[in-house]
Amino acid sequence: MRFEIGPVQVNISMAPEISGRTRPTKPKKQARGIKRKRGDIDVDLTTLQAAVEELDTATTATSFTDLPLSAETKAGLDASHYTTLTDIQQKAIPLALKGKDILGAAKTGSGKTLAFLVPVLENLYRTQCIGPDAGLGAMVIAPTRELAIQIFDVLRQIGRKGHLFAAGLVIGGKGLREEQDALVRMNIVVCTPGRILQHLSQTAAFNVDGLRMLVLDEADRILDMGFQRDVDAIVDYLPRERQTMLFSATQTKRVADLARLSLREPEYISVHESASSATPKTLQQNYVLTPIPEKLDTLWSFLQSSKKSKIVVFLSSGKQVRFVYETFRHMQPGIPLLHLHGRQKQTARLEITTKFSNAKASCLFATDVVARGIDFPAVDWVVQVDCPEDAETYIHRVGRTARYERDGRAVLFLDPSEEEGMLARLEAKNVPIERINVRTKKQTSIKNQLQNMCFKDPQLKYLGQKAFASYVRSLHVQKDKTIFKLDSYPLEEYAASLGLPGAPRIKFLKADAEDVKRKKNASRQAAASESESGSDDDDEDGEKVKSKTEKPAVRTKYDRMFERQNQDVLADHYSKMIKSDDPTSNNALLDDDDAGDDLFDIKRRIPAASSSPEPDTAPDGDPEPDTRTSGPKSILLPGAKTPLILDSARRAKLLKSKKKLLQFKESGTKLVFDDDGTAHQIYELEDEAAFRARGEAEEQRKRFLDEEGERVKIADGEDKATAKAKRREKIVKRKERAKQADEDDAAGQQVGGGEQDAMANFLADAAGSDDESEAEEAPQAKKQKKWFQKDVEVEAEEGGREIETLDDLEAEAARLLG
Ligand code: ADP
Ligand code: MG
Repeated sequence: MRFEIGPVQVNISMAPEISGRTRPTKPKKQARGIKRKRGDIDVDLTTLQAAVEELDTATTATSFTDLPLSAETKAGLDASHYTTLTDIQQKAIPLALKGKDILGAAKTGSGKTLAFLVPVLENLYRTQCIGPDAGLGAMVIAPTRELAIQIFDVLRQIGRKGHLFAAGLVIGGKGLREEQDALVRMNIVVCTPGRILQHLSQTAAFNVDGLRMLVLDEADRILDMGFQRDVDAIVDYLPRERQTMLFSATQTKRVADLARLSLREPEYISVHESASSATPKTLQQNYVLTPIPEKLDTLWSFLQSSKKSKIVVFLSSGKQVRFVYETFRHMQPGIPLLHLHGRQKQTARLEITTKFSNAKASCLFATDVVARGIDFPAVDWVVQVDCPEDAETYIHRVGRTARYERDGRAVLFLDPSEEEGMLARLEAKNVPIERINVRTKKQTSIKNQLQNMCFKDPQLKYLGQKAFASYVRSLHVQKDKTIFKLDSYPLEEYAASLGLPGAPRIKFLKADAEDVKRKKNASRQAAASESESGSDDDDEDGEKVKSKTEKPAVRTKYDRMFERQNQDVLADHYSKMIKSDDPTSNNALLDDDDAGDDLFDIKRRIPAASSSPEPDTAPDGDPEPDTRTSGPKSILLPGAKTPLILDSARRAKLLKSKKKLLQFKESGTKLVFDDDGTAHQIYELEDEAAFRARGEAEEQRKRFLDEEGERVKIADGEDKATAKAKRREKIVKRKERAKQADEDDAAGQQVGGGEQDAMANFLADAAGSDDESEAEEAPQAKKQKKWFQKDVEVEAEEGGREIETLDDLEAEAARLLG
């Protein structure tokens, strides 16, 4: 009897290309593995089983070859270049092979994945839980899809050398049917809580009675509030007789949690508990004090100085991530940007994680959806722009760098109000962190750019408003009030730093947190509206939410678009304007007072007179009278004294032409503006008292007339002088032209002169452009220079002399022209 059911992973629901069997390079080795005789396998199994039983868990094996593992697993580990065991692997694997329940705690990046995957493969292999009829033997649960994919990938790697298990990934994002069909044949499933629960309750053929192993990666996360109900429900389906293993960098020890999972005398393995720090030794950790309104400046400046690095930037919500990503992208930071949050489509998420994994230099803006477990290779920096909710989250976030003996750096941005509380929490968890300062020289402000962008692009502003709201909401719902004191944040300035014209009002500020949560859930259930996200819960494991709110009908994005509530991109004052545009209100024309407050001025608004019961106002404000209805209508045009009676189709047509409407309006009045920009009538009546204070009326009249007479005289003199000068100039020019014509005739030709002229012209242009007041006259001045070389003379003869010669004339003209 042989269990040959094809490739190792028959049911890979994510990506078909990850079947390791298609590689043609080593066909011999594989064939050898598959061709082993049943008898050989039986011998193998008994010796293996004996070796495991004899294994002394006190002595530590340093190499995978020292452990009693199947040839297939050994080959897989070898092919993946895993040779020496890490601390947690040394301690956990022997115990797990013996079937013990395990609580494993080890720092981020210390190899916990293999610590449970190797025993999973081995224990199922030794009991020959292989093939479609064997049923499900092991279930590995991870809190996020990304992490589940990654675990599955490692499983695929180490299982690809001869193992015949059917393993699958169940994380949603695929058709339920497809997953159902695959599930019933699986021996090992890697999954997220929400989706697997859905199958447990809906897929009839999915039988878990034979399950032997349950693994929770990032166990404390899976056991916390967000997943509590799902996990309890899952465990209810599973047989009590099984091996349970919990792994995390921040392990739970709460008895209640363990009781929920019905662990039997678990072995608590904590390899780094006695270590001086809870984070990897190779990780350098710092924080900078950055008041929240300066956060983005600091982040931008940081990116400018680390363009060659691979960076993960953590923000508190998907909206924040989107806003920072979109705005920074516009400003071209010189480093490739990526962004990831729970509201993205699964395919996009996968694409982005792959892209970032393969990138050399890149900056990924992300929510806590990638805070845990994700093994991006060679990350240089982890930047926490928004303060993490607790020390655990901090530890997991920074754990994205300095993985498996590599170096890494982490920076945490702290608002001064957060400093004390957060540092105390980190100290309690043995996190060594030091303060550093931003070099003020390198700090650039991007506030103006952001303001510009938000002003020009309402979408960005909208995003900014959402980002602001979700950030404030996240602060509000934070549990640790010793760190997050909502009152101490300069929120107005923060809004301004995002480029917003003012801090959007956030209604829930008054309501208590519970209330908000309840409302949020209710609205989600009702419409699954996309617009409200932000908490970590919905960023992580987005499918969980979906499974609860699954509706029978297919909903398109247009459905969602129309259901969307908060589409108000426009500022308050503009909304006000729209409101007053309400056709049911008769006084749609704003009073002057109202209009003065608004940014936009209303050019033309034609309200219906009160006599018409239903004014026909098209949305754009243009009247669209319905001439089919009987009876004349009257319309009051702005600026017209008498209403316009619309008693015929022809008259109604008038409304379409602005020009024709002019004749019905009063002619406009001319205004002058003073230095302050205030409009005045050209003649304004003076206050009588002030007028009298200046003397007798008759006297004043006389004085006025005299003054005006004098002014007119002077102006007249000036005008005459200018006219005279112009006349003279004309004469000069005429003569010059005549002279030039004579010279040309005489000299015949002057080669190269043109070139020189051009140069002279250019220089004169350059000189002239310095003084704008000369601009108009300049061409003439240049022409003269071109023709007359006697600049010195011209200067010398300056002055109001009588004009006798041609030279005098030139001089006079030049003087007048300045
Ligand atoms: P953790 O779950 O503890 O955060 P992972 O299991 O994700 O850590 O492993 C972190 C990195 O270390 C991975 O890139 C993995 O390939 C590598 N790694 C794990 N175990 C070994 C080993 N025994 N030898 C070499 N590299 C290892
Ligand atoms: Mg891990």
